[in-house]
Amino acid sequence: DFKSMNALVTGSTSGIGLGIAQRLAAKGMNVMLNGFGTPEQIEAAKESISSLGVRVGYHGADLSKPAEIEDLVRSTEELFGRVDVLVNNAGIQHVSPVESFDPARWDAVIAINLSAAFHTTRLVLPNMQSRNWGRIVNIASAHGLVASANKSAYVAAKHGVVGFTKVVALENAKTGVTCNAVCPGWVLTPLVQAQVDARAHKEGITIEEAKINLLSEKQPSQEFVTPEQLGGLVVFLCSEDANEVRGVAWNMDGGWVAQ
Ligand code: NAD
Repeated sequence: DFKSMNALVTGSTSGIGLGIAQRLAAKGMNVMLNGFGTPEQIEAAKESISSLGVRVGYHGADLSKPAEIEDLVRSTEELFGRVDVLVNNAGIQHVSPVESFDPARWDAVIAINLSAAFHTTRLVLPNMQSRNWGRIVNIASAHGLVASANKSAYVAAKHGVVGFTKVVALENAKTGVTCNAVCPGWVLTPLVQAQVDARAHKEGITIEEAKINLLSEKQPSQEFVTPEQLGGLVVFLCSEDANEVRGVAWNMDGGWVAQ
């Protein structure tokens, strides 16, 4: 197991990031949480980690701001001594055709979904390299491998994350530092619930019908992927068995990109 190892998981107050943080904690890792939320939500997230018998921290850095990212990484190093595992998970979505896409939303999606992973990675790498061990896992998306209409910034950012992952993997290929991406299909988190609600409203159908329609379009299994399942894959990528898994973009998507 991963006792006395320390993980930094961005965007871990909700959804996939929290699920991953809980799976890592269940294996014995101390976890630094990050993300937005009400004080109650943040407290509940912390409690769900500490109840697993590991140390937990929280830092509210806004990942669109490089100076706050630097403070997040340095604070994690101060709290735990070092960062062994970095999971770049924080992300946002914005849906619009290109010609009416708000340029400020484009910049925000690129900053949070792509550039933040560059900043955290450049800041943790020197210490991982000097210890000759580290794991960097980037939560990309099926949209890191294939596109959908109206998600230009998100698809560009996620394809960018997959490319960045390969470069970091290659630059560290002769070391104990690996870098890989995970590409989820639909997961029923607040990010996707917003798209389900919008669809139900627009098409005049129930929430349940909107969920079924959403899955039918893209995900052959017709089942949502869960944060827990994604956490299990991240646990594997952090294990010694995954030493030679480098630069992959591993889809867990109910068959989405097999089509
Ligand atoms: P979510 O909205 O439930 O969680 C996003 C997390 O990121 C939250 O903790 C939020 O507070 C945090 N966050 C957002 N903006 C931030 C910022 N500026 N600074 C710091 N933290 C910020 O979404 P989710 O569905 O769990 O998504 C997590 C990741 O998984 C994202 O990168 C997303 O693109 C990716 N993903 C999600 C799905 C899906 O179907 N839900 C599919 C593929 C990929």
